[in-house]
This record gives sequence, C-alpha cells and structure tokens, in this order.
Amino acid sequence: MTENPTEPEPESTQYDYSFDYIQKKLEGKKDSYGMLMKEIIRAGICTECGTCAAVCPVLEWDHLAGQPKLIGKCTGCGICYNQCPRTITDPIQLMGEFKTGYVSNTNIPEVIGAQDGGTVTSLLSYLFDEHLIDAAIVSMKDPDNPWHPVAQIITNKDDAIKASGSIYCHSQTVEALMDAIRQDYRSIAFVGTPCNIDAVDKMTSSPSGMLKYFMRAHILKIGLFCMDSFAPEALYPFFEKDGIDLSKVVKMDINKGKFHIYYDHDGEPVKSYTIKQLDKFKSSSCNFCTDLTAENADISIGSVGSGAKKNTAFARTGIGAEIIEDAAKKGYLEIEPYNAINLNAVLFLAKLKKVSQYNIQKRKVFIVREPSVIEEPKIESKPEEEQAIAKPLGSRKFLSVSKDIDEEEKLLKITLTNSVGYLLEDLKIRIVIVEELFEKKPWITAIRELFPYESIDIGYPLETVDNEIVYPNVLVEASTEKYGKVFSRTFKLAPKEEK
Ligand SMILES: Cc1cc2nc3c(=O)[nH]c(=O)nc-3n(C[C@H](O)[C@H](O)[C@H](O)COP(=O)(O)OP(=O)(O)OC[C@H]3O[C@@H](n4cnc5c(N)ncnc54)[C@H](O)[C@@H]3O)c2cc1C
Ligand code: SF4
Ligand code: SF4
Ligand code: SF4
Repeated sequence: MTENPTEPEPESTQYDYSFDYIQKKLEGKKDSYGMLMKEIIRAGICTECGTCAAVCPVLEWDHLAGQPKLIGKCTGCGICYNQCPRTITDPIQLMGEFKTGYVSNTNIPEVIGAQDGGTVTSLLSYLFDEHLIDAAIVSMKDPDNPWHPVAQIITNKDDAIKASGSIYCHSQTVEALMDAIRQDYRSIAFVGTPCNIDAVDKMTSSPSGMLKYFMRAHILKIGLFCMDSFAPEALYPFFEKDGIDLSKVVKMDINKGKFHIYYDHDGEPVKSYTIKQLDKFKSSSCNFCTDLTAENADISIGSVGSGAKKNTAFARTGIGAEIIEDAAKKGYLEIEPYNAINLNAVLFLAKLKKVSQYNIQKRKVFIVREPSVIEEPKIESKPEEEQAIAKPLGSRKFLSVSKDIDEEEKLLKITLTNSVGYLLEDLKIRIVIVEELFEKKPWITAIRELFPYESIDIGYPLETVDNEIVYPNVLVEASTEKYGKVFSRTFKLAPKEEK
C-alpha cells in the first residue's frame, strides 16, 4: 500500500533526539581505531584513501603495509572511524527511515501463542475486523511436516491468531501473495522477513512486467526484524538427533544470542543452543543480508530493544503510522513511545548485521601444492615460545594463528590468517606433534597464495586411546620462499574444561 500523498509530512519526529544521542555515542567509542582495523582494514575493504591518517595526529600512512599506523597514544575520539568512507555510522544507513517508533503489545486475550508482544497478530485482527483488508499472507506450520513453514492466504482473524509465532526458516510468501492477487483479493496485508519485503517492494516498483498486477491490489507490507534464518533440512535433523521431538515443540525463539526450544508456552526451554552452535545450519543467503529491520516495509516489527512479551515497532509510512495508532485507539494494542535506549539496542544489532558481510570468507578454495620436500630434518622447539623468525617488516607478524579443538570430531582446527597487507606466496605449512625432542605425525602442505587478511583453516586429526583424545604439544610452522620462516610456535593442547 503506498503512502497517502495528501498526508502532511511531520516537521520533525519526537525521536530525532535519539539519533543525535546515538551519533554522539558512536563518535566517542574507546576502541574506534581497533574497530577500524577489524571491520575495514583486516576485512580487506579499505580503499587506501588515507582519510583516517589525514584526520588524526597520531596516525600516519604506512606506505610499506598500505594501511594506517598508530604512532602515538590514541584518545579514542572516534574521528578516524566516523570519517572513513567505508564505515556505516549513520542511523538511517543502519535501519532506514521511519516516522514513529513504538514499544507495543497485544490487548487481545486470545493471542496467546504469539512470538513476542503479539503486535503482528493484533494488527491483522484489527485490519480484518475493520474490513481494511480482505486477505493476509502469513506463514503457518505445515501439519504434515512439523516446523516447516507454509505460506498461506488467510481471510479472517481466527486464522491470523492460528498463524502467530515465528518459524526461523525461509517461507515462500510471495508465491502466496501472487495467488491472492490472481484470486482477486483487493487489499492484502503481507507479513514477511526483510528479504520477502524487498521482493514485494521490487515487484511493486520495478518496471519488469509485474507492475500491472498490483493495479488490482493494495499491499500493506508488515516486515519482521530478522538477523538470520536456518535451513530446515539441516537444522531439524540435528534437533531430532539431539533428542527433540519436533511434534511436541510449541515455540522456537531467538533471544540474546541463544536459540530456545519450548514444549510449553509458559515453561522453561526444553533445550537452548548458542547461535554460534547453529551457525553451520544457517541459510547461506543470510550471510549476504544486511537488512535487520525490514527497511522497505510500511510497518517493521521485532523484539530487540523491548522487554519480554513486547515488540519494537516502527511505522515507516503514513499508512503504517495511521494503522498502528488506530489499532491502539480501538483497543487491539497497547503502545508507548520508543526511547533512545530501545533504539540503541536496535542500532547495535543492525550494525552487527551490516558489517557482518565484511567478514565473509571470500575464497573457500585454495590451490594446494605438493611440497617439493616431503619432510624436513627434525627442528628444535621450545613449548609456548615463539622461534626467532626473519622479520623484514620489523615487529609486524605475517601470520596470526588460532586453534580450537573439536572434541566430537577429534580434530585440532588451526586457522592461519595473513595479518599484513602483503600477498604471501608459496606458503609452506607444517604441523607436527612434539614429544620431548621427537616429532611425529608430520603434516605438510603448501598453498600458492594467501591474500592479505585471508584465513585458511586446517583440520589436524588427533590421536585417541579408547576413543579419548590424547592431548599433545603441537608445533605449527609456516615459511615462504621470499620471507623465510614467518611463524613457528608450539601449542600445548588441553581439554577445554581444564583451560
Ligand atoms: C526468520 C526470522 C528471524 C527473526 N529474527 C529476529 C531477530 O533477529 N530480532 C528480532 O527482534 N526479531 C526477529 N524476528 C521477528 C520475531 O521473531 C517476531 O516475528 C516479531 O517480533 C513479531 O512478534 P509478534 O509477537 O508480533 O509476532 P506474532 O504476532 O506471533 O506474528 C508473527 C507473524 O510472523 C509470521 N511468520 C512466522 N514465521 C515466518 C517466516 N519464516 N516468514 C514470514 N513470516 C513468518 C506468522 O505468520 C505471523 O503472522 C525474526 C522472525 C523470523 C521469521
Ligand atoms: S586518536 Fe586518532 S586513531 Fe584514535 S580514535 Fe581518534 S582519530 Fe582514531
Ligand atoms: S579512511 Fe577507511 S578506507 Fe580510507 S584509508 Fe582509512 S581505513 Fe582505509
Ligand atoms: S537474514 Fe536476510 S536473507 Fe536471511 S531470512 Fe532474514 S531477511 Fe531473509
């Protein structure tokens, strides 16, 4: 549904002050230089414009490394970070424009299965009761395939209530919308994730042959906040393997970095996972998504920033604001104004999502070379001490190396990251177990090139006795033809809980 052109634009919203507040906060971050390094330089998206060095008396341009270099004490003023053309610091860039923000929750007693405050379901109920829509597109659980979403056309309030609750998977909502248009529904509320909303926004605005269909219907876009969704064909078998009976699950909820599963609406979760644990089941498309708050919706609704059983709602268009406020006036919703503290939480998460794309591993396939030397003579190693390494770049390290033990897979996972702005060519990597002065199980490979700030992961199988890992000392070495030995360190491995 498009904005009413006759409606006067408010001069300035009561939330303008929040933006100023956040702007000041962003400028004053203590770790601004660290953030610039992490988000822009190490992520490989720095354009080498030199602005950061130009605006700061303690930064200079390091021509050798092709990046700024700190030459004095950083005060954390934040100017380098905020002036960088690659950082995203403006609240409007982070979450789009909106007219009014609310903290809201339902006033309808039957809306018990709602995900958070039940605002979406309450708005749909209001829209049906007031005959403002004749259909809505929602996503319901497939009765034959538990927790798989099925996009549906619904035409009444009871079905809106049945459809409440979130399913954290992609749902083919646009297909249902087109069916509704073909079936001659004239005013349709469309509920979807930001990517769903973008699809509808594009169909209703781009001249690719779809515009004429929307002559027949007004669409009110109700967008859900969304940080990520999961592939059901991978996530649900994992849950089932972990003892969860999907047919008994009444609610799934993501809250403060955890994924909770409930058998009972009012009880404690039957199981909780960190989002990191479930990362491998995330839909790959979500890694490329930068919109948390459904920036192209008429109304955007989420939970972040508001308390339990409440929603954060933004009216982005005139019709969106009118609908929320009339629904509240007619007793469907409780609304209160949004404040700077609520907004801060949304902006924080929106920023995480916008910058996460910078950390996508760009190259997954490395060209691995057979090393010309199969095994080198034994080398001396000093546990936990770094070896003397040729350092043509002064004290800068070529490689940073981190380790993690996958106890289930019995693997030592080693991540080597090129930590300078140089291409490392013909990088030879050697991993070996060290027992006193003896070495065993050497593992050697060579990769043709490791680009600046790029990482390569290596899985080194650990020995087991009676299916228990034997925790050895492991020497990791790396050298290049040009720079010689660029990394050498012996790691003492230990079970996770003993660290
Ligand atoms: C994949 C996904 C990820 C989300 N991530 C976040 C997040 O990171 N932060 C945050 O604050 N909020 C997130 N949300 C939104 C949140 O879960 C609630 O939907 C929102 O707060 C509205 O709450 P409510 O109580 O008003 O919803 P309800 O009144 O329960 O209504 C929810 C509506 O969403 C529809 N729906 C359910 N699943 C889907 C789906 N997969 N696709 C399209 N529509 C669906 C239902 O049909 C229903 O109409 C996410 C939602 C989804 C679907
Ligand atoms: S002092 Fe310089 S390096 Fe530190 S935050 Fe300010 S501009 Fe950035
Ligand atoms: S201002 Fe940003 S893009 Fe420009 S050199 Fe500094 S980090 Fe790179
Ligand atoms: S993270 Fe983006 S792509 Fe993934 S479901 Fe949410 S809106 Fe869609």
